[in-house]
Amino acid sequence: MFHHVKELQFNARVSKPDVRFAKLLLEQFGGPNGELKAAMQYFVQAFGCRKAFPDKYDMLMDIATEEFSHLEIVGATIQMLLTGVTGELKNAADESDLTKMLDGNAAKENYIHDAMVNPQFFIVSGGTPTLTDSVGNPWSASYIMGMGDLTADLRLNLGAETSAKMVYENLMKFTDDVYVKETLRFLMTREVAHYQMFQAALDTIQPNFPPGILESDPKFSNKYFNMSKGEDYKGPWNEGKSPLMGEEWQTVENPVQHVRDTDGLLEEESKGTDRTEKSVQSANKKLSAERKEKIDKANAPKNGVMSWSEYEDNQKSRDENKSLISK
Ligand code: MN
Ligand code: MN
Repeated sequence: MFHHVKELQFNARVSKPDVRFAKLLLEQFGGPNGELKAAMQYFVQAFGCRKAFPDKYDMLMDIATEEFSHLEIVGATIQMLLTGVTGELKNAADESDLTKMLDGNAAKENYIHDAMVNPQFFIVSGGTPTLTDSVGNPWSASYIMGMGDLTADLRLNLGAETSAKMVYENLMKFTDDVYVKETLRFLMTREVAHYQMFQAALDTIQPNFPPGILESDPKFSNKYFNMSKGEDYKGPWNEGKSPLMGEEWQTVENPVQHVRDTDGLLEEESKGTDRTEKSVQSANKKLSAERKEKIDKANAPKNGVMSWSEYEDNQKSRDENKSLISK
């Protein structure tokens, strides 16, 4: 269950209204790399590992909940940046627009000018944040990625944290407000913290590469196809040992000829690896059985009932009541 605490996680402050920056900041409210995307991605991923990986469930739910707290901070900041807009709109009865007349035509021109920055703030949302990105695209569930496998999901989350961090880094260049900058720096930093949490969690699952269960075909996992002419650059991506599987990189220098010579790679030979078709098949069987057993065991109904949560104190008092009745 969720419990709302009235204070923000970080004391977000703003020195003055800024409709332009409010519009840019919408990117982290309802955009593809924003806080709602992160919150919903980790929330949805958590369900699948509640029983089999309770530690990862706990982490995913904690981080999802923190992302909701960030969404709240971003929304509050946008609202503060829009100070004045809401009040002006509620001033609907004042047809003479006295405030503007007193301030002169220049103020009115400014107001119209600000409205053009993001018309939605002024004519649709009544001066509140909208669940869109900075150019008005509505938030979409298609931003969410989850494959139901932690070795895949945690990697997807490393990507999500990377892009979220970068958007904050870029946003910081577009405001001079030291208070807003302070909040953005906090939000950016938390994504750096989350990145490391996901990496550390991934490292506790072994083996975790390749993602999922099935090993790769040993004939192709260490081949580098030199698909261009000119200077050939070398690096750990095509020479020495492959970083995660420790196989020797093999460069196919002339891919066109090689594909023809091997009947379209059907007659490819495996080189530079200890893995064989036989070892791959047996590793696949072993890991499949291990993961299946772990999940089946964790999800098995107890006493014919499936229950998501355990309420220990209640169970204890129920047992005590039972023993009282039987006396
Ligand atoms: Mn965040
Ligand atoms: Mn994050």
